[in-house]
Amino acid sequence: MTSVKTQLGLIRSTLPSGVELVAVSKFHPAEIIAEAYEAGQRIFGESRAQELTAKAASLPGDIRWHFIGHLQTNKVKPVVSATSMIESIDSERLLQAVDREAAKQGKRMDVLMQVHVAKEETKTGFTPDELLDFFRRRAFESLQAVHICGLMAMASNTDDTDRIHRDFSDVAALRGQILEMCPDLRGFDALSMGMSHDYPIAIECGATMVRIGSTIFGEREY
Ligand SMILES: *Cc1c(COP(=O)(O)O)cnc(C)c1O
Repeated sequence: MTSVKTQLGLIRSTLPSGVELVAVSKFHPAEIIAEAYEAGQRIFGESRAQELTAKAASLPGDIRWHFIGHLQTNKVKPVVSATSMIESIDSERLLQAVDREAAKQGKRMDVLMQVHVAKEETKTGFTPDELLDFFRRRAFESLQAVHICGLMAMASNTDDTDRIHRDFSDVAALRGQILEMCPDLRGFDALSMGMSHDYPIAIECGATMVRIGSTIFGEREY
């Protein structure tokens, strides 16, 4: 397989300016993450708390770690401490737990709300209706330390590009609806959507952040 550096260069050359690349390094060892770091990559995505904290401890301190997996409330403390963004807030209970912990740590915690638009039932996240309800109630006003920066989503796992396009467009439209309802929301700009196989479609639909793993690092061995 071609080098991590080459792959990163190829992907970067396809990203419009303003689209951030999250290199998803889950299941890959620290040495290969270090190669991406050497090639200038600074944002990495991990989906398991223990793996994230172990890697964060052994890699350079200026890496910005994004948590992208399902976060259990009993793992909130180490994840808040190690990350610059939690992209996968999938319940109000988790949001409150992250807010309490971030306040305790004296840290402003950037998060994204994960939306479920895909057809697979197994994926987590708020339904669009739940999110609209959350913002209609202005439930974000009680947050002390968390800043909601936008939305994260995965499209349906399918070869049907029309369906993928529709999923991502739904997320972009949802962000617009939320902003219409709460025009005073500040910094609610991020749309994290698109992975190795579908990120060009996500960019067409307005993604500001793409999360790419296997195209950079090769297939994962679970
Ligand atoms: C694993 C993962 C990715 C990256 O997937 P690839 O197909 O390897 O690019 C992106 N987003 C989330 C939420 C993931 O869990």
